[in-house]
Amino acid sequence: MQTKLLINGVWQDAQAGGKIAVINPANGAHLADIAEARAEDVDLAVAAAKKAHPAWAAMAAHDRGQLLLRLADRIEQETAELARLEALDTGHPINDCLRLDVPRTVLCFRYFGGMADKLQGDVVPVDAGFLNFVQREPIGVVGQIVPWNFPLMFTSWKMGPALAAGNCVVLKPTELAPLSTLRIGELMQEVGFPPGVVNILPGYGQTAGQHLAEHPDVGKIAFTGSTATGRRIVEASAGNLKKVQLELGGKGPNIVFEDANLPAAVGGSAFAIFHNQGQACIAGSRLILHENIAEAFLEKFVGLAKSIRLGDPLDPQTEMGPLTSKTHLDRVLHYCDVARKEGAEFLCGGKQPDDPALANGYFIEPTVLRAKPDDTVNLEEVFGPFVTVTTFKTDAEALALANNTRYGLGSGLWTASLSRAHQFANNIKAGMVWINSYKRVHPASPFGGFGESGYGREMGFEAMRDYTQPKSVWVNVDAQIPPFYQR
Ligand code: NAD
Repeated sequence: MQTKLLINGVWQDAQAGGKIAVINPANGAHLADIAEARAEDVDLAVAAAKKAHPAWAAMAAHDRGQLLLRLADRIEQETAELARLEALDTGHPINDCLRLDVPRTVLCFRYFGGMADKLQGDVVPVDAGFLNFVQREPIGVVGQIVPWNFPLMFTSWKMGPALAAGNCVVLKPTELAPLSTLRIGELMQEVGFPPGVVNILPGYGQTAGQHLAEHPDVGKIAFTGSTATGRRIVEASAGNLKKVQLELGGKGPNIVFEDANLPAAVGGSAFAIFHNQGQACIAGSRLILHENIAEAFLEKFVGLAKSIRLGDPLDPQTEMGPLTSKTHLDRVLHYCDVARKEGAEFLCGGKQPDDPALANGYFIEPTVLRAKPDDTVNLEEVFGPFVTVTTFKTDAEALALANNTRYGLGSGLWTASLSRAHQFANNIKAGMVWINSYKRVHPASPFGGFGESGYGREMGFEAMRDYTQPKSVWVNVDAQIPPFYQR
């Protein structure tokens, strides 16, 4: 497969000739060397996207949609290969890639393929004698920066709405796991996306990413990643006041009430934090348990956590793979040390597994710990299979614990009470609330956060609108002479 940069429809070497080594996180093995884009490559790609934009925007929306639909079909046909690439590159278990990552990618491109010709403007009731309508126009060239936790799926979340709305894209995949995105680039060429409409430039954040965020010809930058980098993106965007969409970190509260269906809550809460090794911005990383069911819940939950099968991501039996990089493993282990120093009680995990077969990979055991509400590990995003437990007596306490965060992305609650469920859904400060479920996503439903989890939305109509700018057009229908300066 291609390992070069996709610029203006041509796979090419980086101008400065740099390479990035891509590593298999399950065993530290070298997977590939890919071209490393730097500022001068970003300039070329942005120029290509700018040149391609007028024709792309003028193309019938239906035809743009058809290309996205054809792409979705090709991805579906390549499910096995893409799942394998994603598993090798990120460490996601192959079963998760087959059941979630690839199908969700297909669904997303398909949704926006269908959406392309459904974005309508408005007619606004203004003064008599005038017609005012608002049309939504594409922004032009958009920059997109994708992280390493769901590189394949996030490529579709970013590209789908942007392309459907008539923008051209310069996308920087993560330096850590770029392979599935490069393969998507190949499939896009195969189905006939015109040159320059999509440009894919793997590179490092400080160089390629920063330059893309600063670029004066980029009209919008869409970023998923850490809150710290999100702040740098906002600063970098100031030069030309480009639009910014940020999907940043989270510290998801997951509340289990006394009246919850316990087996469902245990299984759902495990999925909330352990799926993808906890490397998800929406992870349910703070378990908030009613004190009357806490012991019964934890007995089952910790038992389940200890039974999760860690192993080779390509083995269909594996339920949890490695973290995606050594740097990230060190970060999660560091948080284990911080928790110990702050007096947390570990119920399981907190260390790398003893199994010698996993010694060269970046594995960590599923970790459950009791920590005080204001401990560091209850406030900062750990981004691993690492979940804190606190308990409450009253609904008011549960809500206060849930909202004790600067983030506000995913949140969940488990209860049989309809009225309590609705009250909490109204009062939790988060962009998404799951009731008796966790981590459901769909391309039709807006995804994004409150507070330091960012702004703007991915998916759904919200995302399409965020990739356009409204233009208000006034028509003097009566052809009257305006009452000013008449002679
Ligand atoms: P990061 O935010 O630094 O990297 C994410 C993406 O941003 C990568 O593509 C990277 O190349 C790019 N980037 C980095 N610096 C940049 C810059 N100055 N300008 C433009 N682009 C830049 O994340 P990380 O260091 O890999 O992970 C750190 C923490 O971030 C994690 O522990 C986790 O808490 C959080 N994170 C969140 C998400 C999410 O889905 N919201 C994804 C990845 C990481």
